[in-house]
Amino acid sequence: MPDGEVIMNDRSADFLDEAARIEQAITDKSIAFIRENAARIDTSNPSGLCYYCEEPVHNEGRFCDADCARDWDRTPHNLRRNS
Ligand SMILES: [Zn+2]
Repeated sequence: MPDGEVIMNDRSADFLDEAARIEQAITDKSIAFIRENAARIDTSNPSGLCYYCEEPVHNEGRFCDADCARDWDRTPHNLRRNS
């Protein structure tokens, strides 16, 4: 048998199927958990001003553009949340 060759039999195929099934279940649970948490985040912006630069926001979001959203995310008041 060449080095590195793996012998596959019915048992190892079952094991791989089970591993794939478990991995998929974990992924599905993770996605569901993230979606539930995301649904609870309040994304409203009653002031209509950018959270970072305080310019008027011309959309439904909290920031006037992606740069402000990224910079706000890096400000110290968010470091605890992101660590
Ligand atoms: Zn802004």
